[in-house]
Amino acid sequence: MSYPALAARTAVVTGAASGMGAATARLLAANGARVAVLARRTDRLTELAAELTAAGGTALAVTADITDQASVDAAAEAVHATYGPVDLVVNNAGVMLPNPLADGRLDEWTRMIDTNLTGALRVLRAFTGDLAAAAAEGRTADLVNVSSIASHVLFPDYAVYGATKAALTQLSAALRTELGPLDVRVSTVEPGLTDTELGGHIDNPVLREQLGGMFGAIPALAAEDVADLIGYTVSRPRHVNLRQSIVLPTRQA
Ligand code: NDP
Repeated sequence: MSYPALAARTAVVTGAASGMGAATARLLAANGARVAVLARRTDRLTELAAELTAAGGTALAVTADITDQASVDAAAEAVHATYGPVDLVVNNAGVMLPNPLADGRLDEWTRMIDTNLTGALRVLRAFTGDLAAAAAEGRTADLVNVSSIASHVLFPDYAVYGATKAALTQLSAALRTELGPLDVRVSTVEPGLTDTELGGHIDNPVLREQLGGMFGAIPALAAEDVADLIGYTVSRPRHVNLRQSIVLPTRQA
């Protein structure tokens, strides 16, 4: 999709090594935005940045682990050194590690909370100053948090994942009360079943198969469908906030 308003923007997209993050980076770059792509897998980011640049875009690969404060600080420094302040942040990185609560998987709970919630906060902490400054100059400034339908709908064995996403949705709503008055637009995008690498970290064979079954039963969204919604959301005039969007495959209730 074409969103000419994005040509003037400087963006950071987390979790851009794959899935929705990579698709969003592609959409932003294709529309003329300068895009810093963040994730842990350097090879994927380098490849993506090369692809975007070869297509005429402007992209910077920045290896970063959002569970590590020093890594996020270094990433912000690298982005600022190359692009200066940013005006569009897509907090997209996330992990989904389902298991029965009774299994007591503190390792997975910690990792999900530290990535999906605290990680998003670390990124917010690194770039909110940029967003506030851009808005104060009269430019459009966006923070997009990628949450999930799992913040509203309950799935057995996905309790902690759902809790992290509900927290992110709540955080976005609360942030609007602080950042909205500064003209920083905070929006939440809540996708349903989307064909990405997200299920690849599930270590429970029954749940892996169950998720595979869902993909068999329902034609899922493509990462590009979600990227398009993000592109649409951030290309509205600066006084218009499409503040919370749920996007599902048509066959997902
Ligand atoms: P992917 O697994 O394809 O993408 C997740 C991205 O996050 C990867 O690029 C990964 O890169 C990155 N990431 C994970 N951990 C970290 C970390 N510690 N630091 C930096 N980057 C990290 O899945 P999706 O594209 O589906 O996921 C994107 C978002 O969408 C997630 O927040 C997910 O919860 C949400 N979502 C997904 C749905 C789906 O059905 N797919 C539905 C609803 C919401 P790397 O491993 O290189 O760090």
